[in-house]
Amino acid sequence: MAVSFPIPSYFTAIFIISRLMSIMRISKHWNNKLLPPLDNITDKLSLDPSALESASQDFGHIVKSIPKAVLQPSSIADIASLINFSYNSSIPFTIAAKGHGHSVRGQAMANDGVVVEMTSMKKHRNGTGIWVSNDGVYADVGGEQLWIDVLNATLKHGVAPVSWTDYLYLTVGGTLSNGGISGQSFRYGPQISNVYEMDVITGKAEIVTCSPNKNSELFYAALGGLGQFGIITRARIPLEPAPKRVKWIRMLYNDFTAFTRDQELLISINGRHDSHALDYLEGSLLMDHGSPDNWRSSFFPPKHHPKITSSIINHRIIYCLEVVKHYDDQTQNTVDKELEQLLKGLSYMPGFMFEKDVLYAEFLNRVLRGELKARSQGLWDVPHPWLNLFIPKSQIEGFNDGVFKGIVLERNITTGPVLVYPMNRKKWDDRMSAVVPDEEIFYTVGFLHSSGFDDWEAFDDQNKEILKFCEEAGIGVKQYLPHFTSKDEWVHHFGSKWETFQQRKFQFDPKMILSPGQRIFNNN
Ligand code: FAD
Repeated sequence: MAVSFPIPSYFTAIFIISRLMSIMRISKHWNNKLLPPLDNITDKLSLDPSALESASQDFGHIVKSIPKAVLQPSSIADIASLINFSYNSSIPFTIAAKGHGHSVRGQAMANDGVVVEMTSMKKHRNGTGIWVSNDGVYADVGGEQLWIDVLNATLKHGVAPVSWTDYLYLTVGGTLSNGGISGQSFRYGPQISNVYEMDVITGKAEIVTCSPNKNSELFYAALGGLGQFGIITRARIPLEPAPKRVKWIRMLYNDFTAFTRDQELLISINGRHDSHALDYLEGSLLMDHGSPDNWRSSFFPPKHHPKITSSIINHRIIYCLEVVKHYDDQTQNTVDKELEQLLKGLSYMPGFMFEKDVLYAEFLNRVLRGELKARSQGLWDVPHPWLNLFIPKSQIEGFNDGVFKGIVLERNITTGPVLVYPMNRKKWDDRMSAVVPDEEIFYTVGFLHSSGFDDWEAFDDQNKEILKFCEEAGIGVKQYLPHFTSKDEWVHHFGSKWETFQQRKFQFDPKMILSPGQRIFNNN
């Protein structure tokens, strides 16, 4: 193949290829003819210590795995070339797509492998990274795009996706590899239930377009597939007309049974096109640690802080039910009535309902304010020993008694947000790789801890105690954004889906190249 570098970069190219081959222990003599060309990407492969350092960290600041090189691709072909090179090497090396690096346990790292910095694709898309169809029915979105950019681009056309995450500075490929959940999930399903089609580069370097009707095995494998089957380079996301504003309400409870009963009642109205349904429902815990607001969002009017705080002190835990109803010019005169009807008869504490009226985009991007505040206090780039769980509805009371009122209050270290809200299983597709409990309604519980660099282990111990409690109490818990270190734990996690998961791995990434940081097939 012709080498088209100017002279100095030609030498750089040769140097990087040789270095990469030697550090990957690939013999030049062994298969000079067999190896595919790598020279088209050498100027995008970096061995620079700062690039390696950045690729060896994530939002968790707990795991550190140093790659041998970092690829800053400018095209899909660059990524395919790298995978092809590894796939055809005598000793294949591992490759991890890194979205925005917002994993918390090294899931986007590649120890001694190559990390693909997906976001570097953004500047080479020439405006095609997010493309809204002429009829506004879908958007074709690069896997490297951030959801905040998807929101801003689609809003310009008066449309938007319907299923979100709480925080929008995550990549499309990253959340589709997990699930992508938020308060819209009860009605629209997770983000992985809202994809028409994808382009995926498999572990065999094949660039495949897949959908429910075309290469469906790869389509369902990749959704919630933890990056194991391919790198998502494009997703076609359904869009709907975007509302203008939202009514945003929080109601406080001192009784968990009443809180969950009301949550479950509200999510029972969940038709995608049912105009009477809520558009968003979440819940969280308020505990006795400073302000009732936290980094995830500030909400309560300061004048009400004293009464909320004293209620928290009295009850030790207060449960906060949070709902949203969208509206626009056509519905602005009816939205209040509609909400009143929906919330009539709920059992929150009298006098403890608080309301806001904000722009739709401001609501969706609500976590940004908290991020900026935490950053300004040096509290963002710190360890995040998070634990995210799915709990079957039938066992959520036992979880409240044993975990929230037991372990959490006893240890008394939890300061970050603790989320708890239900979802409908029928909005998930069982053919996808994502794993959820085996009950029609299940809760997500998220302990979103921030800690100091020298005390994250105390939170980790609490997480372990919670998991142990669940195991001993027979609570059929599943981890979301799972983190395990042994194969047995993964087999247990996937349960009846393990065989299929493993089969798909052999089919799409037989040399176990992709996403080694998940430690599913590379856990030695
Ligand atoms: P990364 O962390 O970079 O990657 C995650 C995994 O996906 C890795 O295994 C990686 O190899 C793989 N991957 C990345 N890109 C691709 C691709 N294009 N193709 C195939 N595999 C790929 N999650 C929710 O569901 N709901 C929330 O509300 C939510 N809020 C969050 C708030 C914060 C502040 C943070 C830090 C995380 C939150 N998350 C939430 C979790 C988040 O969805 C996951 O951490 C997700 O993996 C992060 O996306 P990322 O783009 O940074 O991916």
